[in-house]
Amino acid sequence: MAQGKVYLVGAGPGDPKLITVRGLRALQRCDVVVYDRLAGPQLLQETLPGTERIYVGKRPDRHTMKQEEINRLLLDLALSGKVVCRLKGGDPTVFGRVGEEAELLRQHGVPYEIVPGITSAIAVPAYAGIPVTHRDLASSFSIVTGHESPDKLDRTIQWDKVTNATGTLLFLMGVSKIGYISEQLMKFGRSAQTPVALVRWGTRAEQETLTGTLGDIEQKVREADFQPPAVIVVGDVVRQRETLKWIEAKPLFGWRVLVTRARSQASELADRIDDLGGEPYVFPVIETVKQTNPVEIERIAATLRGAERFDWIVLTSPAGVEFFFSWLAETRVDIRRFAGARFAAVGPKTAEALAARGVFADVVPAQFQAEGLLDSLADMLAPGQRALLPRGDLARGLLPAELAKAGIEAVELDVYENRLVVQEDDRIVEMLQGGEIHAVTFTSSSTVVNLFEALRRLGAERPADLLEGCAIACIGPITARTAEEHGLRVTLTAEQSTIEGLLAAMLAHRSNGNEIS
Ligand code: SAH
Repeated sequence: MAQGKVYLVGAGPGDPKLITVRGLRALQRCDVVVYDRLAGPQLLQETLPGTERIYVGKRPDRHTMKQEEINRLLLDLALSGKVVCRLKGGDPTVFGRVGEEAELLRQHGVPYEIVPGITSAIAVPAYAGIPVTHRDLASSFSIVTGHESPDKLDRTIQWDKVTNATGTLLFLMGVSKIGYISEQLMKFGRSAQTPVALVRWGTRAEQETLTGTLGDIEQKVREADFQPPAVIVVGDVVRQRETLKWIEAKPLFGWRVLVTRARSQASELADRIDDLGGEPYVFPVIETVKQTNPVEIERIAATLRGAERFDWIVLTSPAGVEFFFSWLAETRVDIRRFAGARFAAVGPKTAEALAARGVFADVVPAQFQAEGLLDSLADMLAPGQRALLPRGDLARGLLPAELAKAGIEAVELDVYENRLVVQEDDRIVEMLQGGEIHAVTFTSSSTVVNLFEALRRLGAERPADLLEGCAIACIGPITARTAEEHGLRVTLTAEQSTIEGLLAAMLAHRSNGNEIS
C-alpha cells in the first residue's frame, strides 16, 4: 500500500488568497482534506475533483470532535495510505494544537510536514490598518490566548510580565473575557487610556472593528454585542488605524459576491471584485465544452467544408471564437478559406478573442448585445448574403430570425455546449440561508437557469426564496428578464453588457447609499 502522509497546513486568516504557495500545493495534491470553521470554504475548491472532505469543526447540530479524535482520524487516514491535508485557520502553530497532531503521527512513524500560514494575530490587525509593531510605538508584540477560564488564565499568563511589556498585546479567543483581560492589564499598571481594538472576521466580507480604551472597551463590546471570533489588539499601534485603514474604504467592501459564470471565465470577474474590496465567491454553474453530439459534429464538418459560401462570420461570445477555431483545426479547414467573408463580433471580449487568433473584426457594435450587432450590421447587409453563426447550444434565436428578415441566410452552428455543473459545495446553501452572500451576479440567462437547478440539487426547494436577501446583479436586459421569470427581484442591470458594465452598476448601487440590500 502507498505510504500515507499528513500536511499540517495553515490556511491563513480567511481571505482565500492568503494561503501560502506550499499550502495550496498540498491542498491541490491531497486525497482528503480535514478542515474546520476558520479555514474558508473557498479554499476547498482548490482540491482535485473527488477529494474527500471531512469537517471537524463546531456544528450546532452535532457533537464536536475532540482533539484526540481528530489526532486519531489523521493517523487512521494516513495509515490507510491517504495523503491528508489538515487545513487549519491562520498558522497551525499558533494555538492550533499542531504539536499534538504531529506527535501522534511521529509515534506511529507517519511522515508529516508543517506548512506555516499567515496568523490572524498579525494579518487581522493589518487588514484593519493596525501594524503590530511600529518604530516609535511598539518594538515587540505578544500573542496571548484568552481562551481559558479566569483562574486558569491567571495560572498560565503572568499578567505582571505581559502588562509591563512595552509592546503590542494580541489576544486571540478573548472576546468573552474582554472585561477580565482589561481589568488585569489595568491592575498591573497599563493606563485606562491605552487604545484597544477588536477586529472580528478580519480579511473577510464580515470584517468589523470596534475601538476603545482599556477603560471603556468592555462596555463598548457589551453595547455593540460584539461577537467572536476577533483579535484583540492592545497598545498605541491601534491609533495608526485612524490614518492607515484601507480596506474599508474600497467601494465593494463588505460584499460577498457570488460569481456564477463558467470557471474558465470566472477569474476576470472575481479578480475585479477582489480589487474593488469585495469578496468574490466563485460558484460556477456552467461549463462550456466542445460539441459532443455526433449529428451536430457532422453538420459542423460539412458546413466548414463549404467555407467559401459565407459572406459573414458572426461571433457572439469568446467561447464561440475558441470553439470555432478548434473545429477549424479539427476539420482541417484553413482560415484563409474565409478570405471573402467579413467578421462581426458582438463585443470587445469577442473581438479580442478573434484578434488573438489574428483576425480583426470588421464590425464591433457600441452596444454589446445581439440588438446592437443587428443595428451595426444593418447598413452593410445585402439580401441574399450568407452568414455563419458559430455559437453555443443555448444561444437565443433573435439574431438568426432578424437576419432572415433582412434576407440573409443565417446558418447556426452549435460549436459548443453549455453544461450544468453543480459544485461539491456543501456550504453554499447554508451561506445563502445565513445571509452570508450579499450579491449574486448573472452574466447570462443560462447562469440563472443553472443556478436554480444547482441549488435544487443541493437540497434547496425554493431557490428564489433563498436568494431573497441578495442583491441581484444582471449583465443585461435579457438576463434580467430571465431572473425575473424565476421569481427574483432584480436589483441592478448593467447599461453596457460587459463585466466592466456590471461592475459599474454594482458600484453605482453601493454609492447610492444602498448598503446590503
Ligand atoms: N491558528 C490560528 C488561531 C487559532 S485560535 C491563527 O494563527 O490565526 C482561534 C482564534 O483566532 C479566534 O478565536 C480569533 O481570536 C482568532 N481568529 C482567527 N481567524 C480570525 C479572523 N479572521 N478574524 C478575527 N479573529 C480571528
